[in-house]
Amino acid sequence: MSHEEPIRYYRPKADFKFDISDIQNFVYDMSRCIKCKGCTWVDHTYMPGARFMTRCPSATKYEFDAYGAYGKMRIGHAMAEGLLPWNDRALEVMYACTLCGACDVGCKRNLDLEIELSLEALRAKAVQDGVGPMPAHKKIAENIAKNHNIYGAPPAQRTAWISPEITPAEKADVLYFVGCTASYVNPEIARSTAKILQTAGTQYMLLPDEWCCGNTLFSVGLLDQARELARRNVEEVRRAGAKTLLLSCAEGYRMWKVDVPKLLNISTAELGFQVVHLVEYVDEQVKNGALQMKKPLPTRLTYHDACSLSRLSEPWTPYEGQRGWMGCVEPRLKRRRGSNGIYAQPRDILKAIPGVELVEMPRTRENAFCCGAGRGTREAFPEFAEWAAGQRLEEVREIGAETLVTACPWCKNNFDQAVKAGGETVQVRDISEVICAALEA
Ligand code: SF4
Ligand code: SF4
Repeated sequence: MSHEEPIRYYRPKADFKFDISDIQNFVYDMSRCIKCKGCTWVDHTYMPGARFMTRCPSATKYEFDAYGAYGKMRIGHAMAEGLLPWNDRALEVMYACTLCGACDVGCKRNLDLEIELSLEALRAKAVQDGVGPMPAHKKIAENIAKNHNIYGAPPAQRTAWISPEITPAEKADVLYFVGCTASYVNPEIARSTAKILQTAGTQYMLLPDEWCCGNTLFSVGLLDQARELARRNVEEVRRAGAKTLLLSCAEGYRMWKVDVPKLLNISTAELGFQVVHLVEYVDEQVKNGALQMKKPLPTRLTYHDACSLSRLSEPWTPYEGQRGWMGCVEPRLKRRRGSNGIYAQPRDILKAIPGVELVEMPRTRENAFCCGAGRGTREAFPEFAEWAAGQRLEEVREIGAETLVTACPWCKNNFDQAVKAGGETVQVRDISEVICAALEA
């Protein structure tokens, strides 16, 4: 090097965008993981003690670094650079992960690396490379292609939950998107939601032919199929003229609010309708007096933050820019760090019910431990899913709660199964059922 030539301490700026269909967009994030494990531990400020100190179900269960976000980032980086081929174990590492977002918010306390997007991009790469998803996921994709629901049940049975007292309107501003699980497996959640809307005097409609929201397809990396479904679904909701799309399922809420726009390369605001979870709607109705929960429910109750309603639920905005010196990006990037998720509304609702004593589990809000069910985990790794729910039930036992409430049918079913398997006595309820019970005269 000549004396005239300056030493270059910086790298030239590189283009990147938040497009999970190309793993190259996330090589920087994966390569900058410093293995500090801040993604595994509950934030130190909120650390409840030695017993419930981890927030990554995958690393906690498998007790091997490859399963933590730090392992996945190192493996993923090597794969993106063409240095490591897929094998069965690498595939298991990528899919035995609930995509719960706990690592993403943990890492962003410190480094602002896009861990959740990197994990999603790695699953998309697994599919592009012809190795993913897992066999159980392929079956779900077949079910959706054939019957438009994840269970492979007859489409005609989708509306079997509608009992005679449930009277949706032909046309209304609010559209209740029921989702596959509440339609086929948990009709009590769909019925309770409809009753709440009717009690508040809210006119609501249903889609004439509702199809799966595509959550599992998206979550396991089947992006083309998920995008096709997203296009069809958005068109249907726009055609129906809905101003508000209301969901009682946390997974469906995240899918519609974050991942449908992500797939279509638009922002949440560009959907053309508002995406609202039942707890947001009820909280508003209770506060403006339209809903009155007067019936006492004397119980010691705790609330489980479903990942997709809490840390994963912040609105989506597409991003395209350049990264330069020290990883600085331009134009300015507003990070999704999980703290603007839906945390207060469900707690305010429960506290407004006479007789309810709301107690918190050691791990709450951004630090909550995932129930283990979502994003394709339960189907491919049922034993892991049940183990994760069992870990959460230990917290319920620790605080002596009699009732465990969540706002997602996936969490409810997974907890129910773990309660049965463990011979526990705790009651598991969806928040729609609790609200409904408090409305009864
Ligand atoms: S993913 Fe982030 S928080 Fe986790 S080890 Fe890497 S740098 Fe640390
Ligand atoms: S998404 Fe959840 S389970 Fe997967 S690595 Fe991150 S914290 Fe662990």
